[in-house]
Amino acid sequence: MLKSPLLVALLGFAAAAAAGAPSARPEPPAAAESPAAAESQTEARRMLAELIAIRSTHEHGSTEAAHWVAETMQHGGFVPGEVAVLAPAEHPDRGNVVVRLKGRGQGKPVLYLGHLDVVEAHRADWSFDPFTLTEKDGWLYGRGTIDVKGQDVAMIEALLRMKREGFVPARDIVVALTADEEAGGVANGVKWLYDAHPDLVDAVLVINPDGGEAGMKAGRRLYVAVQTSEKMFLTFGLEATDKGGHSSRPAPGNPIYRLARGLDRIAAFRFPVHVTDTTRLYFAGRARLESGQRRADLLAMTRTPLDPAAVARLSKDVETDIMLRTTCVTTQIEGGHAENALPQRAGALLQCRVIPGETPREIERTVARVLADPGIRISTVTAAIPSPESRPSPAILDVVGRVTRSIWPDVVVLPEMAAGADDSIYPRARGIPAYGIDGMFDDLDDGRAHGRDERIGVRAFGEELEFTYRLMKALGDSP
Ligand SMILES: [Zn+2]
Repeated sequence: MLKSPLLVALLGFAAAAAAGAPSARPEPPAAAESPAAAESQTEARRMLAELIAIRSTHEHGSTEAAHWVAETMQHGGFVPGEVAVLAPAEHPDRGNVVVRLKGRGQGKPVLYLGHLDVVEAHRADWSFDPFTLTEKDGWLYGRGTIDVKGQDVAMIEALLRMKREGFVPARDIVVALTADEEAGGVANGVKWLYDAHPDLVDAVLVINPDGGEAGMKAGRRLYVAVQTSEKMFLTFGLEATDKGGHSSRPAPGNPIYRLARGLDRIAAFRFPVHVTDTTRLYFAGRARLESGQRRADLLAMTRTPLDPAAVARLSKDVETDIMLRTTCVTTQIEGGHAENALPQRAGALLQCRVIPGETPREIERTVARVLADPGIRISTVTAAIPSPESRPSPAILDVVGRVTRSIWPDVVVLPEMAAGADDSIYPRARGIPAYGIDGMFDDLDDGRAHGRDERIGVRAFGEELEFTYRLMKALGDSP
């Protein structure tokens, strides 16, 4: 899970509106709306406990968890042809599971993604056993509750509930729960499924709750994000060289000075503002959560031509600046080889986060122009994985908006560009639109994914079950 920090610092207004409320106040459980929903809640809680108890860290792998999902689904009425556990031959412990609710064959399937692996957790660091689901004061604690086993369970519970109802969607609904999403994995399951079993994951549309975000501050539910894109990660190496010599005889070609002057020009440079379809809608949605000048500035980003004064104000704030443009920053530097020698070499890394739609070639040309020293050699250290923006189409935003309002009438649907990447890059790189959408509300000031005492609210989990069920059903039946 790569939660965007973009929104955390932005919601001063919302926090002020709820000032005085303790930020970690537990909430009462959501009232079950129907016997079917109540049955769903009970079953999902049991499943979450069982899945959390399977220690699917990188050390242990995900195959046991994949088999557990398969058995659970077969117990719930799915036949063997609708459930498959698959692992690469060279990594049998990196198991994936693909479950299919068959539709009426109208159009290609919708594919839901979730990962089965979790970040390691040690009992000594936690207040509870991280691999035993523990309820306390309105919270459910356990490794993976928010990243992302809680959502995995919501997805499979939605399928089980539809199966119980005898619901047959227009198109197939496929859920793939996969290996090695978290850093350090050896066999990313989504990438592997696309390579080894493309027919199983073929879809017209991908929903990836792991890339989604439902933001809450001080108990107030604010927005459900629709993540459509992420900035591309691209790193250049910069190098200046010279013949060197004795330090008693300084010469003009010193590569450290030359590189430093070039980096100084980079530091002062700002890439041009580039508003995408997603960020335009993002600024509009954000404006609804703000007031005064800030609201006016955010709204100004939705109009053309852009208001330079508004751009200047938003550029001063890192959180909005990075939504406006590509950035490149020097992250490492080295040079010289002896105390008493003129340096022969100076090098630096330039780490770029590129707005979708811009190309690595363009960025490199701009960097060369700004360095303004043909003697500084530019190389690519980490190439960008191309990942086009998935269009924030009215079709997807309408469905998400309708489902969101049916549960939380005041919550804003917010298209979002993430600063980091998740498994959605694999479908996006293949030209399949992928959206990060999740209804598990989490406090923006208290993110615990990957950390100690990871948890979800009992009520938030209950609502996530209902949200996932309604959205999956709607997408499975939409033309
Ligand atoms: Zn995750």
